[in-house]
Amino acid sequence: MISYPYLIPISECVSLEKKVNMQLLDGKATAAEIKLELRQVVLKRKEEGKKIPHLAAVLVGNDGGSMTYVNAKVKACDEIGFESTLIRYDETVSEEILLRKIDSLNKDKSIDGFIVQLPLPKHIDELKVTQAIDARKDVDGFHPINLGNMVLNLPGFLPATPAGIVELLKRNNVETEGKSCVIIGRSNIVGTPLSIMLGRNKSPGNCTVTLTHSRTKNLSEITSKADIIVAAIGKPEFVTADMVKNGAVVVDVGTTRVEDASKARGWALKGDVKFDEVAPKCSYISPVPGGVGPMTIASLMMNTLHAMELKENNK
Ligand code: NAP
Repeated sequence: MISYPYLIPISECVSLEKKVNMQLLDGKATAAEIKLELRQVVLKRKEEGKKIPHLAAVLVGNDGGSMTYVNAKVKACDEIGFESTLIRYDETVSEEILLRKIDSLNKDKSIDGFIVQLPLPKHIDELKVTQAIDARKDVDGFHPINLGNMVLNLPGFLPATPAGIVELLKRNNVETEGKSCVIIGRSNIVGTPLSIMLGRNKSPGNCTVTLTHSRTKNLSEITSKADIIVAAIGKPEFVTADMVKNGAVVVDVGTTRVEDASKARGWALKGDVKFDEVAPKCSYISPVPGGVGPMTIASLMMNTLHAMELKENNK
């Protein structure tokens, strides 16, 4: 029988496509490494009799997601050895009371940084709350002063999630220089700041960034040419294999609770990427959970240490 070595059966083509050497962007492991480094700093400071960083978190209402995030932040403080204070209000708390609390946290010398967990109930103006936080204590990096400093590449607090993504890429040696990066979602807390951070003349950075959103036309056409895709839209399994080129780096920011009867709690966390079909095509991919989430918390911890150091240096 004549054999045609150049004719590869379809089944083998598929397995060839799967041979991309995929590496997991393990945010849990990378964040654990950062937390260990921070713990060393805390231990040294304790030995030297210096102040320990102190993070406060304000939580309004009983939203399950928000409670989980805030608890994870408090737990991270415990692991590292930071001090933490959790301040809780009922869903019905007035904007005035919340603003008064923010004012007292701004003035409280024992607290280095604090966050107000978003989203807030509809009767409270989130922008007003964000702007009321002293920029020097704004460890979430949402204050206009910090966002402005980020745009100008000046010192300040970087928003925790995009900073966590950049750190995840850096610590896993993902090359960004000269790469085309498509970000899906243009929120003020993820997509927009990340587009600036990855486009900067810095390492990681120097990407050619395309920021896409719900009005973007031919999204699949755009994403399928990208070297790096970041999905931050909050639509479970939105990014499918046909939207991703072979060898791409995919970062999944999405965290949506979906019903899951197989879990005792009745829900599972789903990312914006259809992981099982996209992962085999990727050079790197971050999972959900265990990808960007833990890195966001690690960034918040780094910002808290930074806030305390800035305060010390400005004495
Ligand atoms: P968001 O404020 O919920 O906004 C969603 C963005 O996605 C908007 O820019 C929207 O476009 C865009 N979008 C919606 N449908 C789209 C579509 N079909 N095609 C293209 N773009 C579309 O965004 P977010 O606050 O960044 O949250 C996004 C997700 O990330 C959520 O699941 C959230 O829970 C998660 N998140 C995770 C972390 C973490 O630490 N892991 C942190 C923050 C957020 P328009 O602007 O045109 O409306």
